[in-house]
Amino acid sequence: MSITREQILDTLRRIEDPASKKDIVSADIVRALTIDGGEVRFVLEVAASQGAAMEPTRLAAVEAVEKLPGVTKVSALVTAHSEKQPPNLGTGAKPAAPAGPAPIPGVKKIIAVASGKGGVGKSTVSSNLAVALAAEGKKVGLLDADVYGPSQPRMLGVTGHPASPDGKTILPLRNHGVTLMSMGLMMKENEAVVWRGPMLMGALQQMLNQVQWGELDVLIIDLPPGTGDVQITMAQKAEIEGAIVVSTPQDVALLDARKALDMFRKTNTKVLGMVENMSTHVCSNCGHEEHIFGHGGAKAEAEKLGLPFLGEVPLDIDIRLASDAGAPVVVAKPDSPQAQAFRDIARKLIDQGIV
Ligand code: ADP
Repeated sequence: MSITREQILDTLRRIEDPASKKDIVSADIVRALTIDGGEVRFVLEVAASQGAAMEPTRLAAVEAVEKLPGVTKVSALVTAHSEKQPPNLGTGAKPAAPAGPAPIPGVKKIIAVASGKGGVGKSTVSSNLAVALAAEGKKVGLLDADVYGPSQPRMLGVTGHPASPDGKTILPLRNHGVTLMSMGLMMKENEAVVWRGPMLMGALQQMLNQVQWGELDVLIIDLPPGTGDVQITMAQKAEIEGAIVVSTPQDVALLDARKALDMFRKTNTKVLGMVENMSTHVCSNCGHEEHIFGHGGAKAEAEKLGLPFLGEVPLDIDIRLASDAGAPVVVAKPDSPQAQAFRDIARKLIDQGIV
């Protein structure tokens, strides 16, 4: 039985907002509610002064939704918007950049990697593409803007907190030739995502503008899945060269991919092309090829829409194992066909003069 938005909202209506004493739905603090199969995500947006007090409410909301039949996982985060001042990441930080798209000094191109739904391999493609471009001699940065599940620190094997020696700028971390900044590096591991003070969007904008990216040929932004506020803000605030949309070949995934493509059309962001991930599975025992999620769907979709098709990546255990171990397959097994699939995509971007 699949869960509906109304069922979730009805459940959240039983949770009280400590500030207004109304329920959290009537108090209008529930934002960005998404349902992805059994996975439910939402944001509670409150005033900065309320941020700290919201944790019990967040936990109660998660617990209540978790009890609903059909719900397998619940992620909720609290974002706090500053009442008067522009959001700041640290004390003494400068206000965020102006409202329109702004270039980042030293960064030549920004490419966003997006997907219509979670779990299709957007982060895997982003990290492998980043190291593949670095292997081609490009100066590469990766901004992990997936606020719900920042996975790049793990995929790139980066730990530790970024330093901010002057309290104004943030020094990113580096591994495998890639400069990385992630929401995940700003939080303690396993800690709930609670933004006290800065509004989430402000924090993202500051990750673009206050991180010392240095000289980069390309900054890859790993967007959260779907078509919510974060994606639209990024498309509007950053001077994006274009977006790459990752999809599996399944019809349902492609349906969601279409929504992402539509969002980019509406925000006037160029789509650089589509990538089909988990395309073919080659049995590691017998070499038999199987198309577990179908095959060629993303290519056909790209052709139908007149978009470039950037390549297909097989469904392969080495890709997952390498990412889990903190060295993308392009680094861990550079000569494997799996690595080659990512390198071909990187080469295409270079050959077309995009990077
Ligand atoms: P998303 O960013 O779209 O949510 P991830 O990149 O986090 O997706 O991938 C989800 C899971 O699937 C991860 O465990 C990842 O290692 C695995 N995965 C992604 N692409 C592949 C692939 N081509 N072959 C095998 N596993 C993959």
